[in-house]
Amino acid sequence: MIQMQALGREPAEIRARILERIAGVLGSGTHILGPEVADFEAAWAAAVGTGHAVGTGNGLDALEIALRCAGIGEGDEVITTPMTAVATVLAIVRAGATPVLADIDPHTALLDPVSAERCVSPRTKAVLLVHLYGRLADMEAWEAFVRRHDLILIEDAAQAHLAERGGRRAGSFGRAAAFSFYPTKNLGAVGDAGAVVTDDAEIAERARRLRNYGQSDRYRHPELGLNSRLDELQAAILTERLAVLPRATERRRAVATQLRDGLGGAPVSMLRAEDEPGADVHHLFVVRSDRRDALAEHLRDRGVASLIHYPIPVHLQPPFVDVRRDPEGLAASEAHARECLTLPCHPHLDDVEVATIVDAVRSFT
Ligand SMILES: *Cc1c(COP(=O)(O)O)cnc(C)c1O
Repeated sequence: MIQMQALGREPAEIRARILERIAGVLGSGTHILGPEVADFEAAWAAAVGTGHAVGTGNGLDALEIALRCAGIGEGDEVITTPMTAVATVLAIVRAGATPVLADIDPHTALLDPVSAERCVSPRTKAVLLVHLYGRLADMEAWEAFVRRHDLILIEDAAQAHLAERGGRRAGSFGRAAAFSFYPTKNLGAVGDAGAVVTDDAEIAERARRLRNYGQSDRYRHPELGLNSRLDELQAAILTERLAVLPRATERRRAVATQLRDGLGGAPVSMLRAEDEPGADVHHLFVVRSDRRDALAEHLRDRGVASLIHYPIPVHLQPPFVDVRRDPEGLAASEAHARECLTLPCHPHLDDVEVATIVDAVRSFT
């Protein structure tokens, strides 16, 4: 079976370096928020192109912390998409703010600015932009949007490590941005991990407090925080994997290109290809079919796994049925949820496996 992930196929030399670093952490006696975390934060800030990175326990907490540190909370509305990991919308609620869901552009599955425009109210404070499937949104358009309405831009870059437009990377456009390093993300730890990135020194300092019980100095807690600290082992592993992330991203791009070229004329539709190749880091390769479930079964019979991102848009999840939304509805998100299917696309696939995936899709009738 060609699986969605093959994390066990990490090259032996990288695994050897990771094991060496783990031994170093065990010998150091420092396991949480130590020098490995500081090193990774510096390396990640440099990779994204922001002044600061603050390691957290996971991506959900990174989003909550980013929102709170940007001054978003009670009484504020935040516009985002229902076609995302539920964590995006959950973080807005946890920050004390009110999510307002705008629809997606069916050609990219990214937030549609026309729908977002209909969601703006006098209480709108921010847009939480998700670079879904690894594709960096049209940042010129969104920067103009938030300027026009005097809003704060926050990025959910959990799927878009190293995606770039015009030399600027995902995570460097917003007032703050959140990353996840969940194991299956383009840069993944061997457990939960995340980070907040920002150019704003005050936001970074407050994020450092919030991730650690709201502590300023030892045992002084001027505000309510979380326990969302990054540990030394995860940070050390992330530093080693970051060193090979550009190469892994290139391989992902080659796999995605082979899939796209091979699927021309196949009985599925694809999302619009990105004009600027660097803007898509192909976290997930998604196709659409009005017989999606039959296609998934056909692929499984031919030894190809698949998944659905996402089968239920957030506004149809029980805790969010009353969530505010575009008054014209979220039809494009609902149609996408019914038709989307994610094919295997990761750096450990070889060309023969990619050809097998292509043939399996092409033989669907
Ligand atoms: C994975 C993900 C998150 C949540 O990250 P966790 O580390 O799992 O908490 C948030 N947003 C998006 C778009 C994601 O893909």
